[in-house]
Amino acid sequence: MIQEKKEECGLFGIFGDAEAVQKTYFGLFSLQHRGQESAGIASTNGEFIQCYAGMGTVKRVFRSGSQVLDKLANSAAIGHVRYSTTGSSSYINRQPFLSEYSRGQVAVAHNGNLINASLLRDEYEAYGSIFKSTSDTEIIIHLLAKPSHVAKPDTLAHVLNHLQGSYCLLFLFPDRIEAARDPYGIRPLCIGQTDNGAFVVASESCALDATEARFVREVEPGEIVRLDKDGLSSRFFVKPASIKPAHCIFEHVYFSKQNSTIFGENVHEFRKKLGRQLAIEHPVEADIVTPIPDSGTSAAVGYSEQSKIPFDMGLVRSHYVGRTFIAPNQKSREMAVKVKLAVVKEAIAGKRVVVVDDSIVRGTTTRGKIQTLWQAGAKEIHMRVSCPPIRFPCYYGVDFPTKEELLANNRDLDQIRDFLGVDSVGYTSLEGMLSSTSLPADHYCTACWSGEYRIPVDTVVNKYALEHYQMFMFDEPPDTYE
Ligand code: SF4
Repeated sequence: MIQEKKEECGLFGIFGDAEAVQKTYFGLFSLQHRGQESAGIASTNGEFIQCYAGMGTVKRVFRSGSQVLDKLANSAAIGHVRYSTTGSSSYINRQPFLSEYSRGQVAVAHNGNLINASLLRDEYEAYGSIFKSTSDTEIIIHLLAKPSHVAKPDTLAHVLNHLQGSYCLLFLFPDRIEAARDPYGIRPLCIGQTDNGAFVVASESCALDATEARFVREVEPGEIVRLDKDGLSSRFFVKPASIKPAHCIFEHVYFSKQNSTIFGENVHEFRKKLGRQLAIEHPVEADIVTPIPDSGTSAAVGYSEQSKIPFDMGLVRSHYVGRTFIAPNQKSREMAVKVKLAVVKEAIAGKRVVVVDDSIVRGTTTRGKIQTLWQAGAKEIHMRVSCPPIRFPCYYGVDFPTKEELLANNRDLDQIRDFLGVDSVGYTSLEGMLSSTSLPADHYCTACWSGEYRIPVDTVVNKYALEHYQMFMFDEPPDTYE
């Protein structure tokens, strides 16, 4: 995969563990693939909440290691890694958001995208509310603090019923964590437990493995899970199973980590199935199958298994070139891409090559990689993509380019083949992809391929919808305690 589609935040929370902060730190590391723009941890000792957050990766924000971690209160914690889907990549939008209202302190971390964020914010601003960020997450705190909501027997359940769109949320109060998932279950969220009995919630099960917690179950769509001194309790803010789920199948195709189990299925195994399906739908005679690493790798294994064409690493990825690699001109950018994804000439020269990627968005970077494979002496190149052509934008938390920028928008397969400069191109069909799922096909969102949006989107949803004024950040403030 080359960074054309962006991850959309990762969550980790743990209650009742003397090493809650340290475990959150490692949990966030394992979720780093879900966002590298900012990172933060909010923690409590049962009396008050502290928060430390900043811009960049977990490694960068917590670069002073134990000097920071040891200062944070340590019996429960929530953590967040961010990629912005509403609100710019800015210091003011880092999470968790720590606030104080009439009931005391609360810290909030969010994965997803609220499609009614603009409407809610307009409503609150009309009554004089002041927002300190341009992220949709801050609106949730205003909803929580509204006196008429505070007066409800279950304020949180009441608040969640005001939200539309995709959300997994972690709320840290001094005495508890509350974790909630939207009624469609669009983004993944699971529960684990450590050997000492502490409960953990995380976006993906890979974070449970990293913190030696065992997988218990997923948070159900429309469920609130409460972690406190009495253990785990559950309640629903919508009637259980009253809404058909719309799990984001793109989590399986690209976002989630191969060793995670989400929506009841291991990600690596699912991607291999997509690769096998791809080989059935688009066979070709070739000498090697090579992935665009890393996210195309599992599907390439599946393609190779099904087609009996040997798997080989024609491209290798450098994990030391981050997305913040600064490339001041076109030549430098081309060199940066070459460093990030290098060709193994010996594997490619004189060969008929099947190149497998998980998906193609704009296609410009894929075309660049194809050119380098030709330069390395490939005899034939056949592009295979393990999901259908992406033709529609996502309003539920994935930062795709505009519809006009999508390669498959208004292009047929021949035009895509010509654009990429390959001998042939083939995508796994929508039916083929859905036949690979373990849950019923209608339990998944497929809107970016089909254009069928399960949650109607009737307002303008874009990343900068809440940025009425241009904010100038001349300097990035240091990572801070609050
Ligand atoms: Fe996932 Fe695509 Fe649906 Fe967005 S539109 S939630 S990326 S399946």
